[in-house]
Amino acid sequence: MYSGPGVKTSPDFPIPDTMKAWVLGNPGELKLTEKPVPVPKRAEVLVRIDAVAICATDLEIIDHGPPASIQGGMPFNKNFTPGHEYMGTVVALGPGVDEYRIGQRITVEIHAGCGQCKRCREGMYTSCHNYGLNYGDVDKGHRANGFTTDGGFCEYQVNNINTLVAIPDAMSDEEATLVVTAGTAMYGLTELGGLVAGESVVVTGPGPIGLLGVAVAKALGAQPVILTGTRDNRLKIGRELGADYTINVRNEDAVEAVRRLNGGKGVDYVVECSGAPNAVNEAVRMVNRGGKVCLAAFPHQETPVDVAHIVRNNIYLYGIRGEGKSATHRAEAFMSQKRFDATKIHTHTFPLDDLPTAIRYAKDRVDDAIKVVVKARGVAAHRVAAE
Ligand SMILES: [Zn+2]
Ligand SMILES: [Zn+2]
Repeated sequence: MYSGPGVKTSPDFPIPDTMKAWVLGNPGELKLTEKPVPVPKRAEVLVRIDAVAICATDLEIIDHGPPASIQGGMPFNKNFTPGHEYMGTVVALGPGVDEYRIGQRITVEIHAGCGQCKRCREGMYTSCHNYGLNYGDVDKGHRANGFTTDGGFCEYQVNNINTLVAIPDAMSDEEATLVVTAGTAMYGLTELGGLVAGESVVVTGPGPIGLLGVAVAKALGAQPVILTGTRDNRLKIGRELGADYTINVRNEDAVEAVRRLNGGKGVDYVVECSGAPNAVNEAVRMVNRGGKVCLAAFPHQETPVDVAHIVRNNIYLYGIRGEGKSATHRAEAFMSQKRFDATKIHTHTFPLDDLPTAIRYAKDRVDDAIKVVVKARGVAAHRVAAE
């Protein structure tokens, strides 16, 4: 019988002792196993996972390891469950938790910082100085679900209450998995970037963060919002999400086009989501003097950067890790107000048991897949189109 010290449960949401969980074996190898259902501790709840989206970072972790770090090392063959973009229902409360109730639908942020380091105290808990120190004798209480602790490709997971974001009944499970992606864009533009209404934004790369970056920038009042990319179908979705202009970089020079579209001076912000080899050098030429470049993609190789151009033009360059300063709550507010329709980037849903198929769709962009979601219940054992 499922229980733990001081843990509250409800007969309305019976909890089994064990659950289905995918675990990472060797690189690229996922195995469906049984694990004990975890028990929430102080300031934690147990979440029944109702939907989990596959992220490009999951594919990196499954095939290569980083940025996951389990017990201070590579995540392979450690009984580790990846997956981090999930949502669900609160089904058990840890000791003393009164901030949420059993039966409440929530989506989750990935990172629970240690709460005691300099960055956590500033609200930058995704840059926690005790990142990954959550095991053995040096347990600092840090969690990044699906990165340093077990994640969401399973049926239940514990989450710190600081990582929960309440969602309205009208928001579908699939849409709720996208809140953290929109929250990442929000964090880059406002908390880290300082964007105010009327400033101009270019987003390079129409992946999930880029597309929701366009949507968030537009909802924040940015003008104009320009999206660059190589695939016309993705650029079209970008226009539906609020891009005033799109540039297919196969057909025209992106830097020239951006400058032309914005009076020759370049824009106030570039959010770099492409990871393309020359992306940084192009981004610093798309911004005006004093402009800001937010780096949100992981390039695969090191690239030379024109530092002199950055210095001469007083350009700000900053990386972004995840979704700090509770930006996800503000992204959720936009989504529940229907300021943009994030579901435009959700393309496929599969049952949890079919995770390998879902991953293949996400990785190979089968059938123009963008965001692929898996669900433990309520999905027939074959592919279900999103709309
Ligand atoms: Zn992600
Ligand atoms: Zn910390």
